[in-house]
Amino acid sequence: MAKATASNGKGIMIATRETTKKKKKKKKKEKKKKKKKRAVTRVLEITANVFSSAFFRRASSTPLRAFSLPIAAAASFQPKPSVAPSLSPLRITGQARGMHSKLVIIGSGPAGHTAAIYAARADLKPVMYEGFLALGIAAGGQLTTTDEVENFPGFSKIQGATLMDNMRAQSEGCGTEIISQTVGKVDISSRPFKYQLHPMGDDNTLEDEVHTADAIIIATGAKARRLDVPGEDKYWGNGVSACAVCDGSLPLFRSKPLVVIGGGDSAVEEAVYLTKKASKVTVLVRKDALRAGKANGRRLSTHPKVEIKYNHVATQILGEEGTPKKPGLMTHLRIKNVKTGKEEEIEANGLFYAVGHEPATQLFKDQLKMDSEGYIITTPGTTETSVEGVFAAGDVQDKKYRQAVTSAGSGCMAALEAEKWLVEQDSEITNGLEAENQAERSQANGVVPEYRSNPLL
Ligand SMILES: Cc1cc2nc3c(=O)[nH]c(=O)nc-3n(C[C@H](O)[C@H](O)[C@H](O)COP(=O)(O)OP(=O)(O)OC[C@H]3O[C@@H](n4cnc5c(N)ncnc54)[C@H](O)[C@@H]3O)c2cc1C
Repeated sequence: MAKATASNGKGIMIATRETTKKKKKKKKKEKKKKKKKRAVTRVLEITANVFSSAFFRRASSTPLRAFSLPIAAAASFQPKPSVAPSLSPLRITGQARGMHSKLVIIGSGPAGHTAAIYAARADLKPVMYEGFLALGIAAGGQLTTTDEVENFPGFSKIQGATLMDNMRAQSEGCGTEIISQTVGKVDISSRPFKYQLHPMGDDNTLEDEVHTADAIIIATGAKARRLDVPGEDKYWGNGVSACAVCDGSLPLFRSKPLVVIGGGDSAVEEAVYLTKKASKVTVLVRKDALRAGKANGRRLSTHPKVEIKYNHVATQILGEEGTPKKPGLMTHLRIKNVKTGKEEEIEANGLFYAVGHEPATQLFKDQLKMDSEGYIITTPGTTETSVEGVFAAGDVQDKKYRQAVTSAGSGCMAALEAEKWLVEQDSEITNGLEAENQAERSQANGVVPEYRSNPLL
């Protein structure tokens, strides 16, 4: 390369030409770079469009790989209040076409995950909607709201959330596609079944895409009713519970005075169950009589460890202050006689609500047979609902046992039944097509085929 020197005019000229050449080259390089950058951006844009297309196997605008909220985050997240009743449950009229799946599982408790494990192992490629704080419950279901579980076989003691994390990992490992959205609307009036999703964190609207499925397993669970007694949130899991059979045996309740709220048969069952471990069980009944059956009422009122307080309600849950690391435990309950207005404080290390459950069946109202309390009715001994191809498992169809292990058991049944049903559908279609082909061949040979309106018949 020529070097420009002050004594050499030619040299200067050469140098200037060289510099101009260099500049031009640099400009060209930059232009090329810019062009390349633009091309990359375009590719990215196209990719993004493809990924957000309704035909990509994912639920619309959410990340492909779903995530579950840690319980603490879930507890502090306040979803917008649901206005589900304004969304009519029937006849989906969304605009865009979504994805189609052979089997969709709605709900992510023990029933949903067990169904998913079985279905995935049977190559049904199940898609699970685990919910985004559906009903205010984190993905994973009711067990994520409790501390220790001591009655799930295989684990003498395990955190509820850990157990559900394990189940989730197992169903995903088997091949289940898990989507962290809540199903907001379902139409099971014709096949394939149709459904739409709520955008994440917004239960007031529905996404445009209408997804379809050949079969559905409903595992949306139930929610124990709470009473919103002051102190309830603070001592939930630290004295306050909604399941005596689940939590009653925990060390914090052993040989301690406990309180049950409720006057129905389940309240009696729970109270009697608690007497095995507690020093005393007080039952608060809002009215002046029990709603429970006579035999149950007698069982309760004659029990030496039980005191029934009629016309009483709880007004405040009291206990230790605790620290963020070690939360305080409940120690007392303030109660009120609704007839006299008199208040008193009683010693209580545990408070168990037995005021009923709400099954998460709003989505299927007027579309499936349900009992007076909204539980889905299944054919006894099966998970079949009143609509062929729709199966129900877990607490959503069981108001008697309501346990993780019974839910898991019915989830297994639902997957096996769904698999059998899908296979039958496939073979019916294959038989129908074969018959059609046979008819065509016969027609070609001049034989008039028997008239049939439906190849499946
Ligand atoms: C405090 C407490 C402690 C318990 N402890 C025990 C115990 O120690 N041992 C035991 O065996 N049982 C225990 N249980 C009972 C046990 O948790 C339930 O029986 C079991 O979780 C029911 O499982 P499931 O699969 O039917 O539904 P759930 O666990 O209720 O899960 C249903 C899930 O589906 C989601 N969902 C609902 N609607 C939709 C929708 N539209 N779209 C997407 N997702 C949706 C919900 O948000 C939820 O995450 C306890 C229950 C409670 C409340």
